[in-house]
This record gives sequence, C-alpha cells and structure tokens, in this order.
Amino acid sequence: MSPQTHSTRQLIDWDRQYLWHPFTPMKPWCEDKDILIIARGEREFLFDTEGRRYIDGTSSIWCNVHGHCVPELDSAVKAQLDQIAHSSLLGLGNIPSILLAKRLVELVHACGLALDKVFYSDDGSTAVEVACKMAYQYWRNVASPTPGSDTRTRFIALGNAYHGDTLGAVSLGGIPIFHAAFKSLCFPVDFVSPPTQPDSLAQIERLLKANPHAYAGIIVEPLVLGAGGMIIYPPEILGQLRALADRYRTLLIFDEVMTGFGRTGTMFAAEQGRVTPDLLCLSKGLTAGYMPLGVTLTTRKIFDAFYADPRVNPEKTFFHGHTFTGHPLACAVALASLDLFDQTHLLVHVQRMSAILAKTLEKARKYPYVGDVRHLGLIGAIELVADKTSRTPFPSAWRVGGALCTKMRSLNLLMRPLADVIVIMPPLAIREENMRHLCDGVLNSLQWLPEIVAQKTREFPT
Ligand code: PMP
Repeated sequence: MSPQTHSTRQLIDWDRQYLWHPFTPMKPWCEDKDILIIARGEREFLFDTEGRRYIDGTSSIWCNVHGHCVPELDSAVKAQLDQIAHSSLLGLGNIPSILLAKRLVELVHACGLALDKVFYSDDGSTAVEVACKMAYQYWRNVASPTPGSDTRTRFIALGNAYHGDTLGAVSLGGIPIFHAAFKSLCFPVDFVSPPTQPDSLAQIERLLKANPHAYAGIIVEPLVLGAGGMIIYPPEILGQLRALADRYRTLLIFDEVMTGFGRTGTMFAAEQGRVTPDLLCLSKGLTAGYMPLGVTLTTRKIFDAFYADPRVNPEKTFFHGHTFTGHPLACAVALASLDLFDQTHLLVHVQRMSAILAKTLEKARKYPYVGDVRHLGLIGAIELVADKTSRTPFPSAWRVGGALCTKMRSLNLLMRPLADVIVIMPPLAIREENMRHLCDGVLNSLQWLPEIVAQKTREFPT
C-alpha cells in the first residue's frame, strides 16, 4: 500500500477548492463537515483516509462484482500493463479486445441470446448512444432508395427510465429532476408508463399502430428501472415487448448496464424473459467495476445492414468511435472477471445472498415509514414514505433517505439512496457474514426514522 501523503483535512480542503462532484448540489457538499474520502479497498470493504472500514453497500454505484483489490483482477491489469496500456481500435486491432469480443459472443450464446457482434465504447451512457445511433442508421441503411420512404426518427422509452447522461441517453430518460432541464436539446421520444402499470404495453401498441414508420426502436431497462427507484417488473413483459417490436417492425434495445453480469440472479436479465433484443448495452459489471468500458452487442442482421463497399455506399458505415474504444486494460480485466465468475460459481453465491436479502426486506416491510420493499437477485430497495397507508412521499427537500444513509456510516455501512429509496446492492461476491452485517445494519437503522422525521419536522416547519 502506498503511504497516504496528505492529511484528511488537507484533502477535504482541496476537494472543496478544486472539485465539482457528479449529481451533487455543491453548496451543501462544500458546507458539509464530514466528507468521507476513500483511500483503499479490500474485497467488499472500503477504507477511508482515517483508516475506518465500511461495507461497500452500493458496490460503488452498482458496478463492483468480485470486490475490491481482487488478486486475479489486479494481476490481469498488471500483466496487460506490461505489454501495453492503450492502442487504438481505429484501423488496428488489439489482443484483449478481440479475445473479449469472442468471449462475450460465446457467453451471450450460452445464455440463449442470439447476438453476434460487439461494438466497444467507454461506459454505460456511450453504450446507449451507440445503440440508438445504430438503430437509427439501421433503418436508413435498409430503406428503399426513395428519400424519406422510411424515416424512423423516434424512440419509445419508459417513464422513470434512466439510460445515462450524454444527450442521446438523456433524450431517453424519464426522470424529471435529472432530465427535464435538457429536453429541448433532445431528439424525439415518446414515453409510456413503466411496465408496473397495467396500461404500459397498450400505450406502446397504440403509438406503434398510429405511426407504423415513425419508430427506430423501443428501449427499456429489462426487469428493473434502476435509477428510477429500483422499480421491478415481471419477466413476461420482456416477451411481450419482443412481440410488439416484431409485429410492428421496430427494434428492441435492452439497456443492461445495471442488470448485466449477475445482478438480477442470472448473467443477463434478458435470460429471464427468454428474449433476445436487437441491441444489448452493457457496462458497469463488464469489467467487474474496475474500469470504464461499454459494449453494445447486436445481431448479424443489423451488422449486415452496415456491411457495404465504401466506394459505392460510403454512407452505410457506422461513423462512431471513441479514442479509448476497446481499451486493452479494461478488456483484460473483463476477461479475468469472466474467468472468476466460473471459478467461484458466483451466480450460485448470488442466489444464497439473495435469500438473505429477501428475509431482511420482508422484515423491513413492517417498519413505520416503509411504504414498499422491492427485491430481485442482489438488488434490494426500501422505499420510505411519510404515510404508510397512502404511500404519500416525504417532501423531497427533507432528504430523509440521505439522512438515514449518512447515519448508517456509524454502523460501518456506506449506502447511497435514490431519493427516499434505500438501495442495498453490495458487490456480488460479498461474504455471508458481511451480507448479514449489512442487512442487520440496514434493518436496525430503520428504528432511527421516527427521530429523523421529528428532526425534519422541526427543520422545515409548515
Ligand atoms: N443505463 C443504466 C441502466 C444505468 O443504470 C446507468 C448508470 N447508472 C447508465 C445507463 C449510465 O452508465 P454510465 O454512468 O456508465 O454512463
């Protein structure tokens, strides 16, 4: 371990002076006395600059799989570093990106998904950008030569969806607090209710029927709307979405940036619906949470629509790429992560941890101020509400979820809520005793809610 060369106080001062944090109202951040700075990690633990140890209860924003500082993953990065850190995929190949593409296609085939081609990008948002641009250009490439004969410029997305923060992904986003400000910069998208509402699929069908040549694709987060509050819907919906896309001849895009790589209990959420999308977006767990890397997988049919002689059809090429596309270090760690999935039988372990989580959530349901609990695989959500019966939310300014998560630090748990939804999503490889510690801690912390609510009532008098 390299020695820490600066005091926590100094680092906090510099953080406040020089940094602008993501998704963060910076005024309270700069006024906060307790900024926590992570110095290192070890399996499911994070350590701060004062040496305090915490369970990483959100797997560092839903991406860590095997834990931190895993020897096999560290060695894979170091071995690749001894060869080369980075070379470009523009006009060249590199070894790890070839091996990973082959491995991913074999993996999705083994999971029953008929996807044959891998396009690399940098993260979840760019994997989604690629999927949208591919879907859009696919229809242009296969359209008859008559200009304007099939101008599919729109997408269908779900209310409460989150697909990332680049502008294409924001166009597809349905969370007002994140997305509303940017909507006039965005491309046209029709939003339907999330599939937890009975009318959701009928709304999609109405749109497709009314405008049969308008839609390039339908995009969903399969099974779980993540940032929208861990809203979970049944796998049968995926088959119904596939049927609608086929019936009305549009493309189906699954954003598995969060659900991919074991989080829902299967390698991919799509498996649970036995559905192959036309485009599949992956990131986060792809590199076990070690490095940024995105991929968009697609079918041979879509690939073939771009497969043309550039002297005759230059416009059919997919003109998209990033400097760090197919980054060798990230691909090397992704390959090592897939080895570990097999060697540690990780999906079996996830089932066992998932059972512990299920019991905890059922107990949580009985607590005051708990309006709902949701669970799938190693995703747990506890929704806090002002009134249990009517499920009336707390005023958002109260930040009850945030206050509770901050207090959980005293139990050595690092948690981050989605508004007032407490999210339990540790690294998939969390050991059983620590899973129990995490679950017991969250459950016990619910006893603090009456005190937090009383304090907020005093802080925000009506
Ligand atoms: N799609 C989904 C479903 C996500 O949950 C996220 C990130 N939370 C993204 C896309 C964006 O990924 P990134 O933050 O890596 O750009």
